Amino acid sequence: MRYALCVSRRNGWFMHEVSIALCLLDIIEKKCREEGCQTVESVRVRLGKASGVQPEAFSFAFEVVKKDTLARNARFMIDLIPLGGTCSACGNRFTTEEAYILECPACGFPSLQVTQGYELEIVEMEVE
Ligand SMILES: [Zn+2]
Repeated sequence: MRYALCVSRRNGWFMHEVSIALCLLDIIEKKCREEGCQTVESVRVRLGKASGVQPEAFSFAFEVVKKDTLARNARFMIDLIPLGGTCSACGNRFTTEEAYILECPACGFPSLQVTQGYELEIVEMEVE
């Protein structure tokens, strides 16, 4: 079985990666109990580079906190999403490898609509 569900979508995270991993596991276990699943085989999340969550730390935190849960054998996969958006002045659509951006890479105008890079959501979960 496969599920797609959204954890949260908001700008800025102030919680430590362990807290986030615990929160993620809560959601996973709750969903599992609702569906009567015994074990979680894999979890895939989308993580924006500007989310403030370090992927390595997040991955490590998940490995640690999953131990006594239904997800104890789950593979944890992170899709990293670069920061990106559209310039209000020239309409340039951009993505960047930076964790933040202050002006348009094309024209230098300091007003941008950020459209990606703050994600933190489960995109897929395989359970049995
Ligand atoms: Zn521009």
